[in-house]
Amino acid sequence: MENISMGRKLQERLSHKWRNVWEVLDDSKREELFDLNEEYKDFLDKSKTEREGTKEIIKLASENGFISIDEVIERKIRPVPGMKIYGNNKDKSVVLFVIGKEKLEKGMNIIGSHLDAPRLDLKQYPIYEEDNFLLLKTHYYGGIKKYQWVTLPLALHGVVIKSNGEKIDIVIGEDEKDPVFFITDLLPHLAKDQMEKKMSEGISGEGLNILFGSIPYNDKDISERVKLNVLNILNERYGIVEEDFTTAEFEVVPSGKSRDVGIDRSMIGAYGQDDRVCVFTSLKAILDIEVPTKTAVALFVDKEEIGSVGNTSMESKFFENMVSELINLSEEEYSEIMVKRALANSWVLSADTLAGFDPNYPEVLDKNNSPFIGNGITIVKYTGVRGKGGSNDANSEYLGKIRNIFNDNEVVWQMGELGKVDQGGGGTIAYILANYGMEVVDCGVPLLSVHAPYEIASKADVYMAYRGYNAFYRQ
Ligand SMILES: [Zn+2]
Repeated sequence: MENISMGRKLQERLSHKWRNVWEVLDDSKREELFDLNEEYKDFLDKSKTEREGTKEIIKLASENGFISIDEVIERKIRPVPGMKIYGNNKDKSVVLFVIGKEKLEKGMNIIGSHLDAPRLDLKQYPIYEEDNFLLLKTHYYGGIKKYQWVTLPLALHGVVIKSNGEKIDIVIGEDEKDPVFFITDLLPHLAKDQMEKKMSEGISGEGLNILFGSIPYNDKDISERVKLNVLNILNERYGIVEEDFTTAEFEVVPSGKSRDVGIDRSMIGAYGQDDRVCVFTSLKAILDIEVPTKTAVALFVDKEEIGSVGNTSMESKFFENMVSELINLSEEEYSEIMVKRALANSWVLSADTLAGFDPNYPEVLDKNNSPFIGNGITIVKYTGVRGKGGSNDANSEYLGKIRNIFNDNEVVWQMGELGKVDQGGGGTIAYILANYGMEVVDCGVPLLSVHAPYEIASKADVYMAYRGYNAFYRQ
C-alpha cells in the first residue's frame, strides 16, 4: 500500500495531464460560463459577415467608452492611460486600443483574430433565368467542402451601392417570416454517376447556383419573364436594378441562429465560429480592461480565409498606420523608430480556431497532441504544412511566459496542433505580425466540423478563451 501511494504521489508531481474545464469549475463559475455563452450566441447571430461583425464590435465598444481615432485626430486629443480608442477599416475590419500606463514604445499586448468566414459570394452578374427558374451564380470564398452547401436553408447578406451613391444593407433569410434560398442536389435514385465521383467533384463550383424564384412576370410578349418578376420584386422592395448587383457585395450564409448542442447544452452549433469565437472572447476581454500596464489591442481583421490579402486584411498596413497615428498623437516629436519599437516590443496571441479531436475521425488526428473541446483555450506552437512549412513556430521563452500567465490566473489551457504530421495543415495571421519582430503564438478555441456550415464549439472553451485573453491583457 505504502509503495502504491508513494508512486501515485510521484506520478502527480512529475507527469502532466490536461484538465477538463467542466471538472474544475464550481457552480458560480458555471453560471458565469453559461451567461457568457448566451452573449456569445447573440453576438454570432448579429455578426454573420465581416461587415456585420465590424458594426457590432463598434457598437459594443462605443457603449463601453471607446471613441473613434478620427475624432481623436480631429480634436488633437493626447492619448492618456485608460483611454479607449477604435479604428474602423472600411467597415470590414476594426482595431481597439486601451492605452496603457507604459509608453507605446515599450510594446503592446495584442490579440488578433479574423472576422471573415467561408461562404458563397454572389458573382458580379449573378442573375439568370433557365427553364423557368431564376437562379443566382456564386463564387465560393475560403476553404469549403462544396457538398456541404446543398439542400441547406441559406440567407443573403449584402451591401449595395446605388448609382446615386446611396449605400443600403440587405439581409434576406434571417427573420422567421423571410423566405430562404437553397441549392439543389440530385435525388439518390438518379445519382449513380454522381456517387461514383470523388467527394471534391460530386458538387462543382459552377454547380453552386441558388434557387431564387419561379413566378413569371405577367406579360407574354417578353422573354426572361421570371427574371423580370424577380427584378421587379427587388426594385419595389429595395429600389435596386440589375446593374446594382455588378458593384454589390452579397454573401450567402446558412440561415438561422446559433443553437445549443447536446442534451446537457454544453456546446454551441453555429455558422462562422471560425473565427468569431476568438473575435467575441477577445472583444469581451478587452471591454473588461480599465487601465492596463501595456497598451491592450484587439485586432479584428478580414480576408484571413483567402490568404490575408487586400486592404482590410492583416497584410495591409492598416494596423501599423494606426500605431503611427497613436505615436504621433502621444509624442512631442514623431519618429518612425518609435513605431518600429512599439511593434517589435509587442506580444501577440494570434487568436484562431483549430480542429478539436473528433472520435469520428481519429485516423487524421494525433490523440496526444490534438486539443480536446472542453479542455480549455489552446496554445498552438506551430501550424504549417509538410514539416512546419509557412509556420510562425513560437519561441520557447515566450511560450513559457504565456503558460505562467494562464497557470497564475486559473485558466484551463492545453497545447494542440492541427492533425497528424503530413495529413494537411493550415495557417493563421501569426507569421505576418511576427515579421515586425513581435513575439507571437497561436492561441484559440478548438472546434469540431471546422469550415462546415455549422461548426461546434464547447461552451467551456469559450469561457476559458475569455479568461485567458483577459489575463493576457492584465499581465
Ligand atoms: Zn480561422
